[in-house]
Amino acid sequence: MHRTDLAALDRAHIIHPYLPSSATERVIMVEGEGSRLRDSHGREYLDATGGLWLAQVGHGRAELADVARDQMARLEYFTSFWEFSNDRAVELAERLVSISPEPLDHVYYTSGGSEGNEAAIKMARYYHHRRGESSRTWILGRHRAYHGIAYGGGSVTGFDLYHDGFGPMMPHVAHLTPPWPYRAELFDGRDCTDFCIAELEETIDRIGAQNIAAMIGEPIMGVAGMVVPPDDYWPRVAEVLRRNGILLVLDEVVTAYGRVGTWFAADHFGVRPDIVVTAKGITSGYLPLGAVLVADHVATELGRDHGFPMGYTYNGHPTACAVALANLDIIDREGLVERAPKIGDFLAAELRRALADVPLVGEVRNVGMMLGVELVADPTTREPLPGIQHIADTIRAEHGVIVRDAATALVLSPALTLGEAEATRIAESIAEVLSRTTPDGTVHRGA
Ligand code: PMP
Repeated sequence: MHRTDLAALDRAHIIHPYLPSSATERVIMVEGEGSRLRDSHGREYLDATGGLWLAQVGHGRAELADVARDQMARLEYFTSFWEFSNDRAVELAERLVSISPEPLDHVYYTSGGSEGNEAAIKMARYYHHRRGESSRTWILGRHRAYHGIAYGGGSVTGFDLYHDGFGPMMPHVAHLTPPWPYRAELFDGRDCTDFCIAELEETIDRIGAQNIAAMIGEPIMGVAGMVVPPDDYWPRVAEVLRRNGILLVLDEVVTAYGRVGTWFAADHFGVRPDIVVTAKGITSGYLPLGAVLVADHVATELGRDHGFPMGYTYNGHPTACAVALANLDIIDREGLVERAPKIGDFLAAELRRALADVPLVGEVRNVGMMLGVELVADPTTREPLPGIQHIADTIRAEHGVIVRDAATALVLSPALTLGEAEATRIAESIAEVLSRTTPDGTVHRGA
């Protein structure tokens, strides 16, 4: 089909998330290899977002296509409801349990992260219900958190954008302050973790521990701008929750499968969650799949009586599980978990070097291959820079480097296979555009 027809047809027929219908531009990708993409006009791009933060092994791995083809030819799909299962789902569960933090030894499959958060919320409430504590229905989250866009997880998500206009959200959700050291104004002059822990304890007192099922949090907050908490935040949160019988659910949809330099961010922060929600990197995006990892004490309750009354048609999809296994094989074989902090720190260092003279940069932060470049109109007041989306669009349009804006930062999460020359190109492209951006967010024309 002619390339202009594709754009016109897209405009006519596809509802894109977060795109006004007045927007005419379309970038229609047709090919990918490693961190390179090519659009329908033959233009090449460097993918610094790793798709949507998931392309651990990079684009275009023919090996994964072969695995999907072979599996489809053998058994494309069968249900995992009731007593039915399939060999690939079983093999993958064994593999996930072997790499997951203790005490997670059960797996509940989904097709993505939003479904996983719905499952986690229901699991947490049902766990307490089965234990005779049906009053434990409240879910604690944080402002600026992102837990997908379904109703439960979407309610715990902490941005008004995802709530306003959608009618009543799920009741019994409380949002806490995000652990964001750079935004010191959030903590009334106190230490970030001390403030967050005091607020957590006050919130538990106010709602009553006997009414709270779980706290859900991203170990590193992605949509908030790759916000990295202080090292003592998660261990101290976990201790408070445990003391109050509240489950800890980590939303590792972005952080799992090597992105932060360990298989799971729970390992990085040294915490033992009761439930971990994963998706994205489990297949590097080659097929939709998610896995909720569940500790034995929770799984035991879910398994009582008639079992856990929640199932998705695609639970344990054999082809998606086969591709996930092969994806984990590649991550293992190529040492990508160990590579993530090395190339991630290299990219962060290149960004700091290239951006050293750009006053609009508040900080460059990263854990492994999750990176945020905080942009401020004024480094003294730390007033956020307006128009960050336009800056991201300009970097793509003028340098062919795809980065995204998230709230107050540019965010990067490239494939774990990214090369050093590619990292340098990303850093220099960002720096070039920011060097001609003024504090009102205007990007001036290049010389
Ligand atoms: N949780 C987190 C932390 C995420 O970043 C995302 C997606 N960006 C989700 C949940 C939702 O996942 P999905 O889009 O696969 O439903």
